Amino acid sequence: MSELLQRPRTGTRIRVAVTFDDGYFDNIDVAMPILRQYGIPITWFVATDFIDNADLVPWWDLIDLTLAECYEPVEFTVDGIKGIYDPTVVADRQWLNTRLRMILKSTGLLQRDAIIEDMRYAISRQYTLPTNSYAREEEIKSVLQGGDIELGGHTGSHPNVALCSSDELKAEINRGKIRLEKISGQSLNWFAYPFGGRGAFSPSAAKAVQEAGFNGACSLVSGTVSMKTEKYMIPRYAISPNMTMETFKARVLGAPLYAGLESLRSSISMSSVRKYGKGFVG
Ligand SMILES: [Zn+2]
Repeated sequence: MSELLQRPRTGTRIRVAVTFDDGYFDNIDVAMPILRQYGIPITWFVATDFIDNADLVPWWDLIDLTLAECYEPVEFTVDGIKGIYDPTVVADRQWLNTRLRMILKSTGLLQRDAIIEDMRYAISRQYTLPTNSYAREEEIKSVLQGGDIELGGHTGSHPNVALCSSDELKAEINRGKIRLEKISGQSLNWFAYPFGGRGAFSPSAAKAVQEAGFNGACSLVSGTVSMKTEKYMIPRYAISPNMTMETFKARVLGAPLYAGLESLRSSISMSSVRKYGKGFVG
């Protein structure tokens, strides 16, 4: 990312920066050997609590575990209401897979942690919780020796920063930054907002990231980078595991076209907001 953002564009070729979020071990175990074969450097945004505590399984992996491994109803409390969810029932699976993900993305730290604690207990009654699949400190240090990975901040516990209090924001951003700087021995330039979509960052989060000393921050709002890009809202295109090679190519090569269409779409939705005087969530 530093290379892309600090060197002005020459010519008309599309330039791409590759980033990975979270810090999973397969990023270095599976992806890095392939990327190195082609000489492609990456920026790696790592949420540090998971690399430091192997028993801390992120909630999205706990949901996947419930869906894959639990054959008895699990019981946990959401929004103060105790629910019983049977992973063998289609409607309950859908609830776990979509509604619960949405709830956990849009709750503050305390409520999130209470739900996670309940989930851990419920799952561990019928399945032995594994350790998480994140890279460990020594593995990160070792892969950094290649000189082609730039670490980036991604908080400590991967919260929705738009919902954090200012104290929580500072603690999350700084904990991640200090930890990664200790591992790499280098100062961090870039940050990526956890989840990263609209509603997962805010002006106060951008300010906190800037105050922590980052040069810029990535979202997961689709778009290309230009001279006009706001440095604390750098857009990215998400590449999902179920994307076909054709879709991937179209997405990368057609990125400038997508960006044009999206800015047109957002200017249309802005004008309809003005017209009807409704607020919209951004
Ligand atoms: Zn993330």
